[in-house]
Amino acid sequence: MASPFRSKNALCGLLILALLLSGAYIAPAGAQSSARPSPVEVVAPKPPTPVIIEGKRVLIYELHITNFGPSALTLTAIQVFASSGESLADYGGPALSELLHPVGDDSQMAMSGSPHATLASDSAKLEIGRRVIAFMYVPVALDLQISALRHRFLFDVADAARSKGTANDESALDGVMVPILHQNPLVLSPPFKDGVWLAGNGPSNTSVHRRSVIAINGRAFISQRFAIDWVMVGKNGNTFHDSRERNENFWAFGQPVLAVADGEITEVVDDIPDNVPGKLPVVTIQNITGNHIIVRIAPDTYVMFAHLKQGSIQVRLHQKVKRGAQIAQVGNSGNTTGAHLHFQLTDANSPLAAEGIPFVFNKFRFLGFGKDFEEDRHPDLPRSRTLPMDDSVVGFQ
Ligand SMILES: [Zn+2]
Repeated sequence: MASPFRSKNALCGLLILALLLSGAYIAPAGAQSSARPSPVEVVAPKPPTPVIIEGKRVLIYELHITNFGPSALTLTAIQVFASSGESLADYGGPALSELLHPVGDDSQMAMSGSPHATLASDSAKLEIGRRVIAFMYVPVALDLQISALRHRFLFDVADAARSKGTANDESALDGVMVPILHQNPLVLSPPFKDGVWLAGNGPSNTSVHRRSVIAINGRAFISQRFAIDWVMVGKNGNTFHDSRERNENFWAFGQPVLAVADGEITEVVDDIPDNVPGKLPVVTIQNITGNHIIVRIAPDTYVMFAHLKQGSIQVRLHQKVKRGAQIAQVGNSGNTTGAHLHFQLTDANSPLAAEGIPFVFNKFRFLGFGKDFEEDRHPDLPRSRTLPMDDSVVGFQ
C-alpha cells in the first residue's frame, strides 16, 4: 500500500484561545531558584497517566506557559525530573521548538504585519501576555514508579534595557510540579472483530489529534489527545476498491463496531446522512462527530465511536452493553471524507468538552507501518497491553 488513505480532517484543526482555564490543574509556583524570577504562569490542564505505545512507556501532557511580565522572554530549556530527583528529559534548541506551539493562528498573525507577530519558526518566543503550549512526550523506563514530575524552565530576557545592571539575561523557574494521575491506563478489547486496520492520525506527539486544542464552555480541551482514525485495509492493499466515489467501495464502510469494555450508553446520535466520499458537509459543532456513540466504561472514563453509518446503531441511551457486543457499523458521517472510525477515550461525557485519556488494547498484531506497507510481505508480531503508534497497520482477530 504505497499511499494509504489518511483522514486529515476528522474532528480536527481548531485552535482557539481559551479565556479561562477553570478547573485545570494549576502547578504550584515552586521555588524560584534564580536571582531573576520568571514572571510566567505554568498550567498543566491534564496531568498524565503513563502509557505504553509500541513498547515504549511515555508521559503525554501539556504545559501552558504564559508571560505575565513586562518584557518579552524566549524559552531556552524545559527540564523534567522524577519526584525522586532523577532527570528524565532536557529539551533545548530544535528539540524544544518541536514541542512548542503558540496559542493562536500563527500564519494569520505573521501576515498581519503586527510588530508583535509570532512566527511559527520562532515558537519559543513569548511576547508580553502571550501563551505557548509545550506538548510534552517524555519517555520513562518501563519499571520506574513516579508519583509526580518536577519541571525547570530557563528563559532569555529579550529586553536588554530592563536587564541592564543585572548579573545576566537569563531567568529561571524551578519546582513546577505535575502529579501522575494513575500508574496504568485502562485495558480495552479491540473495536473490531477482525480485519487489517491502519491507525491513522494515531498516537504521536505531532498528529492533528494530539495538537487539536479546542476552547469550549470557557476552557481549552484536547479531547482527541490519544484518538485514532481507524481505516480498513483490504486485500488489494488499499482502503477502497474500484471507484472511490461510493461509500460501499471503502473496505471499512459497514464493518461491525464492537464495545471495547462493559459500560452504559451515555450519548447516541444516529440520524445524520453519510457523506459522498471526498465531499464535506457544512461542519458545525452539532454534526462534527456525525453519528456517534459514547459509552461510560469506568468512573470519569468515556469511549466515543464517531462517524458511524446512518441507521446502523444497535443500542439506545442508558442501555448497558457488554465487552465485544456489536453496537454499530463504520460509516462516513460528520467531518469526514472517507469511511473510518474515530475512536477516543475521555474523562467526561462529551465529544469535545473533555480531556483525552490514554488506554491500551489487550491484544493485536503489529503488521508494520502504512507508509511502506506491502500486503504480501510485512512483519506479523503479537502485541499485548500497548497502544499502536501513529500509522501502524494492525491486525485484529
Ligand atoms: Zn479523528
